[in-house]
Amino acid sequence: MGLTSAAVKAKARELGFDLCGVAPAESFPELAFLREWLDRGYAGEMAYMARSAERRLDVRAVVPGARSVIVTGTVYNTVPPCAEGDVPPAIARISRYAWGGDYHDVLKARLEALVAWMRAAAPESFETRVYVDTGPVQERVYAQHAGLGWVGKNTCLINPELGSWLFLGEIICTLPLEPDAPGLEQCGGCTRCLEACPTGALVDAGVLDATRCISYLTIELRGRIPEPLRPALGNRVYGCDICQEVCPHNRTAPVSADPAWQPRAGLDRPPLAALWRRTDDDLRALLKGSPMKRAKLTGLRRNVAVAIGNSGDRDGAAALGDAGAERPSASDPMVREHVET
Ligand code: SF4
Ligand code: SF4
Repeated sequence: MGLTSAAVKAKARELGFDLCGVAPAESFPELAFLREWLDRGYAGEMAYMARSAERRLDVRAVVPGARSVIVTGTVYNTVPPCAEGDVPPAIARISRYAWGGDYHDVLKARLEALVAWMRAAAPESFETRVYVDTGPVQERVYAQHAGLGWVGKNTCLINPELGSWLFLGEIICTLPLEPDAPGLEQCGGCTRCLEACPTGALVDAGVLDATRCISYLTIELRGRIPEPLRPALGNRVYGCDICQEVCPHNRTAPVSADPAWQPRAGLDRPPLAALWRRTDDDLRALLKGSPMKRAKLTGLRRNVAVAIGNSGDRDGAAALGDAGAERPSASDPMVREHVET
């Protein structure tokens, strides 16, 4: 007998994944919306989205002959959502997915262990491709079709029991595994996330204008943050969790005990002034092995400068005067513009 979906899922659980399901490797109707989303300019500077659009419409363009997409979900939340409620203005808010180790590396290694096990267990040979977040795959759509949950109005994958603090990862493979039933939409009449978004980035249910989203502005955007949007960042220096924090399905979300996601020293609610005062070498060391390195030093300094401006914190404002040879990124013209405005 060949490898079964049930056996793959049991092994996934053993390897530390909280969720695992199988979607058929097809082009689902929801995937076609990507083109319209790109045409509306909602991807901003994320040119890789347009570059990979063709492949994103169907995983069979990524792995020819693909029959199945094994999708995994991993809880990364390490604090109950209510504990994050009141972070003082002078303290940096960092999106909770970035508090621990770099999920790309951690989860890719676990997915590769699952593939190695599949190869040993399956009688036939097969092709695979493993992705965690960065591949040309609309992973939330495949996650829904693998039965992991549904794509909420906040565009996140929500599991009815575990909520949305989940990392997704997938194995596209040519094995014809038994697919799961797709997850059912359970947002109903709720619109909390749309109402709570401080920049109006959720322009409609499940439609994100990334160019207005704080996650995009603080992580993906390389240049200047549009001035009218800066106040909405508040003390957020990397990402934004608001549309997940307000989601009722996260009210009882579980907490992960996995050492990989526990908050690192220095990223656990650091004062804005202390973050700015770190030398570039210090910052580099802090971000090593963290997903936050995606913002680059200049991006992070830019965000901290905006957050200090929003906070009204006098120590922070004094810290902004500290540039000097040990902090070359603080003298970057783009960063300076955010310090001075
Ligand atoms: S992450 Fe923040 S800014 Fe982006 S859509 Fe959600 S609430 Fe809005
Ligand atoms: S806040 Fe409400 S509408 Fe938004 S994703 Fe959660 S359940 Fe859906």
